[in-house]
Amino acid sequence: MHSLCSVKPPVTVMRYSALKVLKEGLTGNRGWRPVWREPDPKTHYDVIIVGGGGHGLATAHYLAKEHGITNVAVLEKGWIGSGNIGRNTTIVRSNYLLPGNEPFYELSMKLWENLEQDLNYNAMMSQRGIVNLYHSDAQRDAYARRGNTMRLAGADSVLLDQAGLREMCPFLDYDNARFPIKGGLWQPRAGTARHDAVAWGYARAADSRGVDIIQNCEVTGFTINNGKCSGVDTSRGRISANKVAVCVAGSSGRVMAQAGMQLPIESHVLQAFVSEGLKPVIPGVITFGAGHFYVSQSDKGGLVFGGDIDGYNSYAQRGNLPVVEDVCEGGMAIMPMIGRARMLRMWGGLMDMSMDGSPFIDKTSVSGLYFNGGWCYGGFKATPASGWCYAHLLATGQPHESAAAYRLDRFMSGAVVDERGAGAQPNLH
Ligand SMILES: Cc1cc2nc3c(=O)[nH]c(=O)nc-3n(C[C@H](O)[C@H](O)[C@H](O)COP(=O)(O)OP(=O)(O)OC[C@H]3O[C@@H](n4cnc5c(N)ncnc54)[C@H](O)[C@@H]3O)c2cc1C
Repeated sequence: MHSLCSVKPPVTVMRYSALKVLKEGLTGNRGWRPVWREPDPKTHYDVIIVGGGGHGLATAHYLAKEHGITNVAVLEKGWIGSGNIGRNTTIVRSNYLLPGNEPFYELSMKLWENLEQDLNYNAMMSQRGIVNLYHSDAQRDAYARRGNTMRLAGADSVLLDQAGLREMCPFLDYDNARFPIKGGLWQPRAGTARHDAVAWGYARAADSRGVDIIQNCEVTGFTINNGKCSGVDTSRGRISANKVAVCVAGSSGRVMAQAGMQLPIESHVLQAFVSEGLKPVIPGVITFGAGHFYVSQSDKGGLVFGGDIDGYNSYAQRGNLPVVEDVCEGGMAIMPMIGRARMLRMWGGLMDMSMDGSPFIDKTSVSGLYFNGGWCYGGFKATPASGWCYAHLLATGQPHESAAAYRLDRFMSGAVVDERGAGAQPNLH
């Protein structure tokens, strides 16, 4: 494995620092330069990455930085940050149970911890912790097992009893008749990061190493002859490549259909909500253990929260009212004070829900064509490790050891990675 921060950025990159901010502030802010270039597409690249979301940009960054592959284009049909990377509720954690998942998410956590130094970009990474509430003895035992598994993978976890949790979160409704709160599984190193800054930071870092980031460039087809992919058709013309790496999250089914492939993935809407700004009240991230509700507080003071997917297949980036009610019911069950806060805004994003709730980072049956997707609603926290492992696969031809379980053929082999134990039901993962 490569070191987490091995090569220094090229000297031509404008470095950000407190001194630079001070100097620009005193000289009329005339020295800032655009954060990335706007190049026209070349006719050929070593690697084309389809999709300029977090995962595509992270892949480009690690390809250039860790593997020295810089003749790379990221093709984005909209603008950088327009997809789920700029729509999620920003939760970062590595509190998984299964051996196929936990080492991958812990690798991601370690990359998050060094991300701002690596990118020289303020991603507002805030390790305020996450606590998963438990509401029964059986759930406590399950969380104890998960916490032990996390520790075996080098992650941190603390099982809190009710007294310990009360100290941290006195405002929770411990005596709720239906869902009494008995304690929580706490991961202190978890937290939140500012999602669009993550996209911009990766874009800037990849661009600075020579990667072409091409916005408003939709991939409309693949050039495939004799089982080999040699490029893509785009809204800005045909571009050839030695390798094509698809990374389009909620559009996975539609894009891979252009290569004649059907995926074990459905697209669903997931909504997010933000309240008016409040004084600091939520210490980190809190998740409801008997329903689906998660909440944190942004630096501006808004409560940022969400819950279940809308539950029907859709490519629309907006949701419906029954889920708004369901999410708010979840919030009221654990912290009734949330009923006093006014909702400020809400939006939807497109989730690539896989059949076992786990992702794919793999070659496809077409030579030269690679696929990364199926992130469900956990893909933001995975961004660094997804880019790291996808870059490894593209550069070496071999799956990274931390992503070895994320094979496309796992439903044929039976080696599914079903973290929830819910079966082949995307709406339950
Ligand atoms: C409301 C909401 C809350 C969430 N909360 C969390 C959370 O708290 N924690 C967490 O870990 N995860 C969360 N997620 C999930 C996470 O955001 C996604 O799993 C992750 O962002 C997906 O990867 P990405 O960033 O690469 O996707 P995207 O940003 O969606 O990138 C894919 C890109 O591909 C582009 N594209 C599509 N088709 C084409 C084409 N034909 N040609 C060129 N480009 C194309 C799209 O325009 C898009 O920009 C949440 C998601 C949503 C919607």
